[in-house]
Amino acid sequence: MEMEHFKTRHIGINPSEMEKMLETIGVSNIDELIDQTIPYDIRLTKPLALPKALSEQEYAEEIAHLASKNHVCTSYIGMGWYDTITPAVIYRNVFENPVWYTSYTPYQAEVSQGRLEALLNFQTMVSDLTALPLANSSLLDEATAAAEAATMMYALCARNKAKSLADTLFVDEHIFPQTLSVLRTRMHHAGKNIVVGDYKTITLDDNFFGAIIQYPNSDGNVEDYHHFVEKAHAVDCKVAVATDLLALVLLTPPGEWGADIAFGSSQRFGIPLFYGGPSAAFFATREEYKRFIPGRIIGISKDAYGKKALRMALQTREQHIKREKATSNICTAQALLATMSSFYAAYHGPKGLKKIAERIHSIASLISDELTSMGYKQLNASYFDTLKIKLPATISQKDIRNNAEIRNINLRYFKSGEIGISIDETTNSYRAHELLAVFAMAAGNSNVFMIDDLPKKITLTQEQLRTSKYLTHPVFNSYHTETEMMRYIKRLERKDISLAHSMIPLGSCTMKLNAASELLPMGYAGFQKIHPYAPIEQVQGYHEMIEELKSMLAEITGLPGVSLQPNSGAAGEYTGLIVIASYLESIGQGHRNIVLIPASAHGTNPASSVQAGYTPIVVACDEKGNVDMDDLRKKAEEYGNDLAAFMITYPSTHGIFETEIKEMCRIIHEAGGQVYMDGANMNAQVGITNPGTIGADVCHLNLHKTFAIPHGGGGPGVGPICVAEHLIPFLPGHPVMFESDLNTVSAAPYGSAGILQIAYAYIKMMGADGLTEATKVAILNANYLAEKLKDTYGIVYRGANGRVGHELILECRKIKEISGITETDIAKRLMDYGFHAPTLSFPVHGTLMVEPTESESLAELDRFVEAMNNIYEEIMEIVEGKYPAHDNVLVNAPHPEYECVSDEWKHTYPRNKAVYPLPYVAENKFWINVARIDDAFGDRNLVACLCED
Ligand SMILES: *Cc1c(COP(=O)(O)O)cnc(C)c1O
Repeated sequence: MEMEHFKTRHIGINPSEMEKMLETIGVSNIDELIDQTIPYDIRLTKPLALPKALSEQEYAEEIAHLASKNHVCTSYIGMGWYDTITPAVIYRNVFENPVWYTSYTPYQAEVSQGRLEALLNFQTMVSDLTALPLANSSLLDEATAAAEAATMMYALCARNKAKSLADTLFVDEHIFPQTLSVLRTRMHHAGKNIVVGDYKTITLDDNFFGAIIQYPNSDGNVEDYHHFVEKAHAVDCKVAVATDLLALVLLTPPGEWGADIAFGSSQRFGIPLFYGGPSAAFFATREEYKRFIPGRIIGISKDAYGKKALRMALQTREQHIKREKATSNICTAQALLATMSSFYAAYHGPKGLKKIAERIHSIASLISDELTSMGYKQLNASYFDTLKIKLPATISQKDIRNNAEIRNINLRYFKSGEIGISIDETTNSYRAHELLAVFAMAAGNSNVFMIDDLPKKITLTQEQLRTSKYLTHPVFNSYHTETEMMRYIKRLERKDISLAHSMIPLGSCTMKLNAASELLPMGYAGFQKIHPYAPIEQVQGYHEMIEELKSMLAEITGLPGVSLQPNSGAAGEYTGLIVIASYLESIGQGHRNIVLIPASAHGTNPASSVQAGYTPIVVACDEKGNVDMDDLRKKAEEYGNDLAAFMITYPSTHGIFETEIKEMCRIIHEAGGQVYMDGANMNAQVGITNPGTIGADVCHLNLHKTFAIPHGGGGPGVGPICVAEHLIPFLPGHPVMFESDLNTVSAAPYGSAGILQIAYAYIKMMGADGLTEATKVAILNANYLAEKLKDTYGIVYRGANGRVGHELILECRKIKEISGITETDIAKRLMDYGFHAPTLSFPVHGTLMVEPTESESLAELDRFVEAMNNIYEEIMEIVEGKYPAHDNVLVNAPHPEYECVSDEWKHTYPRNKAVYPLPYVAENKFWINVARIDDAFGDRNLVACLCED
């Protein structure tokens, strides 16, 4: 007798339900359905060679063992990561709460008001602390934020005729090495120059479009950049500042000394180190640059009845609409971590943050004084939290290191011999004493006094100290007790639909189960409290997990080289494309600059190819939604010698397994190009086919789609790339932890290492069998829905044998013609039934794309079908004239609670019909608290932070 298989908990359909569904579809067994769906010539011939599936209990034991192989030390390394105290009330009620971590990006604003408010708080916090009025709602990490800043400064210059030839970026030499490497990668592939030097002596001229400096700088020194900013602005060169939010509590913020952009990491606002990620980067700029800011902005608008409501602003800038003209390729960002950081700020408030910052700074001052008195030299003239220590000639770095490691302490060891110490929120008097003892021992000084009390000791000058107020809004001044904070989090949570409520049928986004057993081990200190630059001997557990995950992903994709560094799918696209560029350069084909992309592609594809320095060219689709083979041949020939790559999603974004895929790869390869496969639809491939077998050279995976990492309301994500043999030498390096820093794309060497274990757990517990079965059931569920919805809405595209893949597109354009009801009305009406809408108008305008995933039960699928078909009936009532076109349950959807309970009811249809359209809804009503939101109003009157009124 074996233990319960995890797959029976993950997969929603049991054998007897499967029987029924197969009968509905009209096939005799599941393999017959798969045969009708996936072409023979791309099928795997043998099962995936993966380790035997573990039960949940077995996995729990294995992962606990791995965690124990990571050695937790006190880390003073700094360099962009600082230990922090995650308030337990936030950890338990947000990080461990499925309503927060399983929700989707807040495109459907009416059922996302909670996370929108948390993200608006994040923007307000960033804007206040940096003193720049416009902040976005997070980027991937500090280093990529620097690259976004460079790109934005270039775009700002390019619109100015006098400066349109500027092609050089200045970067001050005292910037974190990972930030510099990521900048170098981006500038190299974008064909821009980078000059690294000393801001004090550089002469800026018309060739410079932007400058990047760090405050406090990478050594920890606080410099005065007033004069530099004036010099830069005199030649219309923009200035972006890498900075630290906690330091800005004490220091004069960049917005007050002329910076155009400020960016950095919000990790130390309560986000565990997690061996480098995930955590949220922030980005703030001046109001007048709002059309250029990368990423998402949450804005304040109003609903249909004038009530204040939040939603994502300026969405037309985003790549899903503007494609190659998009300002960035950010899709998944770091929403969950930004949310947590915003709660951290609200929990501590301005006074609490000041106390934390002053404590850190005072300890640093104390340590500086003590070390000086022992004969060490502290080199930073002024600092917030970071000291740079020069050792006397009699003491070697190795002496200090030995002493430190005996005490489980990690310090920063400069190649030039100095030692760096970054104090953080967790440093207390005991730890300060231990730290001093390390240096005292080396100096032969035996009487380190015991520190009982940490005196306040501000060593910054009056000019350096911040005088302006911050976080004055009530949100940051009301929830300082645990009870109040717990209830505030709960109040926001109650406004949002997540997987804890109902199926989220989002085509292309694979909202499957994020199992508790996959997530629980993230709580181990052995995973949380590890600095990304900890010596390799201390992180054996992480490395075993990372190596095994890489080899399992290589087996699944059929591509042998893997990099886990990219922090999102779109970051993976960019990475895959620059790997191709480096390869082409290496074989003397660096001039190839064209990427062919089908018309149906996700908007990140063209945006990423522009970011990688390519020119995207659209390949047409035929009337069946497939790539138009004649057009592909024509374009491959036309661009022949300039063709770098072809980006293709498979199965296509229409959810169809195109039969000509091998031929497409052949055409591209013959023309000398590389095939990039967008792996967002990998959930339809695992165990049955794979990119390697099909003929791709590179693919990215969305671990936050196919491999069970939750969406977090818009991030974190992991977008690893898998590559063929010839591309392996060009995979991302890292300036601190790897031998080479070629093509570094993220700040941390393994990107978001802290969440890799979720995907690892998923694969380890599903095993080859479970993964393959999941793929089959995902396809079964989609075909079942197609069968049930074909006679009402109709299915837009089907494969060669009439089957859909793992998702299906519902036709809504005919409905609009006969009734005036749009796909948006249907999406909003679904909210009244307690469902999150499917993917709206992508990839085909006027449609809804549904992806049920393997995790949903037959009961849930039937509930969705019933809702959809009931909505169809409601539309027919309008067609029949029973309700007028201007006043019916669809155009007025969603119906907010305040309207439903109001004493007045002026609609032509009864209240009951609006609120309880089906019996199950009355059993468990999800109440919405805003009516339909006016997007246009919000964009015309952009308000992107909380104002005091
Ligand atoms: C989700 C998705 C992406 C982008 O992934 P992110 O992680 O959101 O950046 C790219 N392509 C397709 C087809 C997708 O569905």
